[in-house]
Amino acid sequence: MATANTEVVKESSMLKQKAMIARNYDALTSTAENGRKVAATFVPGNLNELIMCFDMLNNLPEINAIQNGMRKKSGALIQQAEKQGHSEDVCTYVKADIGQMSRGNIAPNGKPMPAPDLLLLSYTGCFTFMKWFELLRHEYGCETVMLQVPYEGDGKITRNMRDYVVKQLKEVVIPKLEEVSGVKFDIDRLREYLRNSAEAEENLVWVLESAKHVRSPIDAYFGGVYYIGPILTAFRGTPDAIEYYDLLRGEIEQRLAEGKGPITPEGDMPEERYRLVVEGPPNWTSFRDFWKMFYDDGAVVVASTYTKVGGVYDLGFRHDPDHPLESLADYCLGCYTNRNLPQRIDMLSKYLDEYQADGLLINSIKSCNSFSAGQLLIMREIEKRTGKPGAFIETDLVDPRYFSAANVKNRLESYFQMIEQRRSRAA
Ligand code: SF4
Repeated sequence: MATANTEVVKESSMLKQKAMIARNYDALTSTAENGRKVAATFVPGNLNELIMCFDMLNNLPEINAIQNGMRKKSGALIQQAEKQGHSEDVCTYVKADIGQMSRGNIAPNGKPMPAPDLLLLSYTGCFTFMKWFELLRHEYGCETVMLQVPYEGDGKITRNMRDYVVKQLKEVVIPKLEEVSGVKFDIDRLREYLRNSAEAEENLVWVLESAKHVRSPIDAYFGGVYYIGPILTAFRGTPDAIEYYDLLRGEIEQRLAEGKGPITPEGDMPEERYRLVVEGPPNWTSFRDFWKMFYDDGAVVVASTYTKVGGVYDLGFRHDPDHPLESLADYCLGCYTNRNLPQRIDMLSKYLDEYQADGLLINSIKSCNSFSAGQLLIMREIEKRTGKPGAFIETDLVDPRYFSAANVKNRLESYFQMIEQRRSRAA
């Protein structure tokens, strides 16, 4: 269904997701009436199933920043945080969050957010997470608990690492959740949620891997950020997430059967000229303009690492109801942000090969030190290993001052020309 530029095309799965997110924000902004307690936590390593065991709601500050970015509200919030003394180099998710708090802490539904009852820091590789919650703890004066997740420095999860995380879950995190919520932990309830998670994860992987088809029925970066929404946020483990991924899989199966390419905000993408793998988060403030630079030139992202920040399911991990705490530990340990550079290089090289991509594009985020560190090295190593060309662009997450449309477009067009030249030399 092609429409005018201003009208965004939405499939049933997108509408369902929108309703789920709206319901979650409504629940969050009604805690005075519904009596629910709120845990704030970050996307990578989030323990959604565990939080649900205590009837608590999950509020994710990065998702709030993304919502503000896509609604073009984050610029003013970031400047507000800078006026309060937060430096230009600080992660802009943090500043958007601090700015939101200073301006009445208004949720996307226009109602004030409640103060969290608990800051649950599941520390998976990004130091900013810790500093961010230190600021929030100072602001809210609420309970905090930290799950220390060892970094995968040697590129593997050892028994000791897993045991260390499980021990903290048993002795620190679960008792704190019980204390804050007043609800007793029930491991069978956790098993049930984990069973739901695994079912949804299976379908998510199927959807992401559908991009191995040449022509891909999905865009695994711009479209991918919608596809990972429920599993990365407050819905992993819920029947809603199962339904969403069933619906989504059905839609993609249909696209495959009809030989269609990805859906874009302007309808079906008419042709696939370039297949790319992308490393790094997207820019949110100009998300649609950024995406358009790709689909206008027939460039499809067939795999991305950003869609793995909340869990690397395509490499085999599933939440496991038979080993509930161990699988929560493995989930946290295996998050993309917790993986070392050689692991990231292996993963990206594998994607370039298995998804028959033309090359690797890195979107380096000015204020995200966690992702940006080592990206040039990653690109050079991958070019060497695969013989495929890489390209590097720079934008930001939610700070509109760092999205230069002309620069990005020029770089992308030169890159597409480079791919063409390689093809004609190879022919
Ligand atoms: S991973 Fe990047 S974007 Fe996320 S909190 Fe850390 S610095 Fe910010």
